[in-house]
Amino acid sequence: MIPNSLPEGLHPETLAVRLAADRSQHGENSEALYLTSGYVQPSAEAAARRFAGEEEGFTYGRYGNPTVDGFERRLAAMESTEAAIGTASGMSAILMMCLALLKAGDHIVCSRSMFGSTIKLIGSDLARFGVESSFVSQTDLAAWRGALRPNTRLLFAETPTNPLTEVCDIAALAALAHDAGALLAVDNCFATPALQQPAAMGADIVMHSGTKYLDGQGRVMAGALCGSQALVTDKFLPVVKSGGMTLAPFNAWVVLKGLETLDIRMRAQSANALGLAQRLQQHPGVARVFYPGLADHPQHALALRQQSGLGGAVLSLEVGSADPERSRRRAFHVLDCMRWLSLSTNLGDTKTLVAHPASTSHGRLTEAQRQAAGVTQGLIRVAVGLEHLDDILADLAHGLDTLDTLA
Ligand SMILES: *Cc1c(COP(=O)(O)O)cnc(C)c1O
Repeated sequence: MIPNSLPEGLHPETLAVRLAADRSQHGENSEALYLTSGYVQPSAEAAARRFAGEEEGFTYGRYGNPTVDGFERRLAAMESTEAAIGTASGMSAILMMCLALLKAGDHIVCSRSMFGSTIKLIGSDLARFGVESSFVSQTDLAAWRGALRPNTRLLFAETPTNPLTEVCDIAALAALAHDAGALLAVDNCFATPALQQPAAMGADIVMHSGTKYLDGQGRVMAGALCGSQALVTDKFLPVVKSGGMTLAPFNAWVVLKGLETLDIRMRAQSANALGLAQRLQQHPGVARVFYPGLADHPQHALALRQQSGLGGAVLSLEVGSADPERSRRRAFHVLDCMRWLSLSTNLGDTKTLVAHPASTSHGRLTEAQRQAAGVTQGLIRVAVGLEHLDDILADLAHGLDTLDTLA
């Protein structure tokens, strides 16, 4: 092993490229990928000590891996937390968090405009195990306060939200949670640590889908939770050990390399998104554009303060009217007229991805849940990539320019 020792005080952009596990005896420059499910132990005594947690050392793939460890250390440094733990996907990170921190009779408060599967997991699946939940307006602090109960253990927010890009005040929610003796968790998928560090604003847990911008090129599934060493070691790790939401080493390696370009990608894609949002606002076929970087976004000032002055790479546009059927036809028309932009529900890629949330990511919600989340039939989400802005707009315009031809 060749120790990878870095001086104190390096900037997050530097750590994103340089912080890693130790090099092997070969001195490889790119981080090694350790594809192994088990580890040979030096002695029976050492194995016993390692399994008992009395000595450092890898024992079994579900419990840890050097490549995954490198990813966790790098992400934690970028999020300004003491530690991080990788998981198989973003959803398994949320499941692991809930299993680790909640029991039957406990209560969790979430934004009602969170990611569709998050609402499903917490509102339906966990409810079967006796975990109570309340879903409140993302932006209404009084609603969060009003939802608190003596048994509230966790507040869980996502900012900006998917797909409407609503922004909540992380510092204010952290204060609210801590006054109530609860923890605050923030889903930081959309902003990423390149734009926003929730822990620096008081959040106790930062949750990631590594599938999105951390990978950044749409290759693998991954997830993570970042927080204090105590949370990671004493709460999360035991659940991963028994629950098996383990991050695969290959996926960890891909995302680890993705982190190296996160900052530059987020800056370039945010600039593209702002340009596209401004130009879509001018289009007669577009009723409204939702993007935190626009001056008319309801939380514009808060977003810029909280997100390093950038709006992120996701925007949504409303092409519908009062009639849901007609709205859906108009949205589908725009999607079906695209010639090369990707019709894909994913986000966080260098390729621009366009989706209809009401029938895909939010399709499993009830109509009432969808309405509460503001996901209308005429809403289109664009996760803006790295292509030239003029080209992206031109491909969207094929449908937008011909909306009048529809009934
Ligand atoms: C995609 C996503 C998730 C879930 O992540 P997976 O890796 O798909 O499991 C959670 N939150 C947000 C905001 C997301 O966009």
